[in-house]
Amino acid sequence: MSDTIAAISTAMGEAGIGIVRMSGKESINIANRLFKGKKVDRLDENHNRRLVYGHIVDPKNDQLIDEVLIAYMKEPYTYTRENMVEIYCHGGIISVRKILDLTLENGARLAEPGEFTKRAFLNGRLDLAQSEAVIDLIRAKTDKSYEVSLGQLEGNLSKKIKEIREILLGMIAHIEASIDFPDEDIEEVTYEELEESANRVYQEIERLLETADRGKILRDGLNTVILGKPNVGKSSLLNAILRENRAIVTDIPGTTRDIIEEYVNIDGIPLKIIDTAGIRTTEDVVEKIGVDRAREMVDRADLIIAVFDASNDLTEEDYHIIDIVKDKRSIVLLNKTDLPNKFDEGTLKSLIPNRDIIVTSILKGIGIDQLEDAIKDMFYKGDLQVESDILVTNVRHKNQLIKAKKNIEDGINGIRSNMPLDCIEVDIKDCWDNLGEISGDTVGEDILDRIFSDFCIGK
Ligand code: GDP
Repeated sequence: MSDTIAAISTAMGEAGIGIVRMSGKESINIANRLFKGKKVDRLDENHNRRLVYGHIVDPKNDQLIDEVLIAYMKEPYTYTRENMVEIYCHGGIISVRKILDLTLENGARLAEPGEFTKRAFLNGRLDLAQSEAVIDLIRAKTDKSYEVSLGQLEGNLSKKIKEIREILLGMIAHIEASIDFPDEDIEEVTYEELEESANRVYQEIERLLETADRGKILRDGLNTVILGKPNVGKSSLLNAILRENRAIVTDIPGTTRDIIEEYVNIDGIPLKIIDTAGIRTTEDVVEKIGVDRAREMVDRADLIIAVFDASNDLTEEDYHIIDIVKDKRSIVLLNKTDLPNKFDEGTLKSLIPNRDIIVTSILKGIGIDQLEDAIKDMFYKGDLQVESDILVTNVRHKNQLIKAKKNIEDGINGIRSNMPLDCIEVDIKDCWDNLGEISGDTVGEDILDRIFSDFCIGK
């Protein structure tokens, strides 16, 4: 970590200001090679946490690069806990780029994605779960996901993990004392006590795991696929939903002709809607790509909205779709009900039992509200009270919790069958380790690299 790193920390594009930042021992010296203050010759300790006005000048040829404000922040009270310099220049592409290049020519190295936050973690300013919350915060798509990330950044998940690990540590300490000093006058740990603690750990882990599905949806969006044969009104439905709800991000992958993805916000639930070309039985190659993709999408979907056309008979394609949605979380729409009805709703109901059918006329705007209510019901499903609690949003955390749960289950089984203490201790320690990987107390370099490479550069 002895390198001084530099990166552009603002998004590239037309903007009022852009920020280039550096972190590391040499930051201030590099800055002093480039910066000519209006009233200040050199930045030093006296300028700690003060904005200084001046110009960036290329030391090779004294060429003026930009008019800037510069801030020097002395360690350890900085984001990375290292010396940092931030240069506030004009936005756009050229100025920030030129200033970044100058920092690189004068001793800094280009930061890797997430390297500032990684340093914050390695220097102990943030734990791992908090560091991961930083990127979630940046990517949050609804107020609710923002709130959850902010809570995690503030350390509420870490605190919970720490509490559970304290219980485990207490168990380990007791076991070790009993093993190491069996003859001494210390209170021997009883199997009942161990079981009680282990049960508490189990319950806490289980409670966290219960929030993971909702947490994932909040973070990544509810993967929603609109299915239906051609012409049933899928695109009209997508447009109607987009019109009524704030679209969050419009993400149209350039290469897929048949699939469009849109994010919308339905009462705080981020919906990632995938509009497919429909399931067709065609041999056309381009269409086939669409169909295969559609299948893949269906497999990955959290929710399927299946659309049928009330003004026509059920066709082979409809049966195909019924087959797909039967076993998946889905909402069924019977559309075009403004037209004369030719559709056999009874058959549909018998083919997909236990499912409400929402009658719509997307053309006339009828039924869209009911659809949205159905989505909300599905998402909140009676556990509204979890709202303010800690949510596990990150798949990595979920996987660690699953491992830890297995460990504590094994431990409990060991306790119940009166296994020797040192065998039980192995499971308790594994549980402690696996939970530690969430907060980063026990974590390998490879995992760290993977986590931080997911960040954007400059954060
Ligand atoms: P897609 O192929 O499934 O995406 O279907 P579209 O959304 O493109 O709709 C096909 C046609 O059906 C368009 O002309 C729509 O205006 C029309 N349409 C969609 N919904 C309704 C509806 O509820 N009633 C009527 N009468 N027409 C509809």
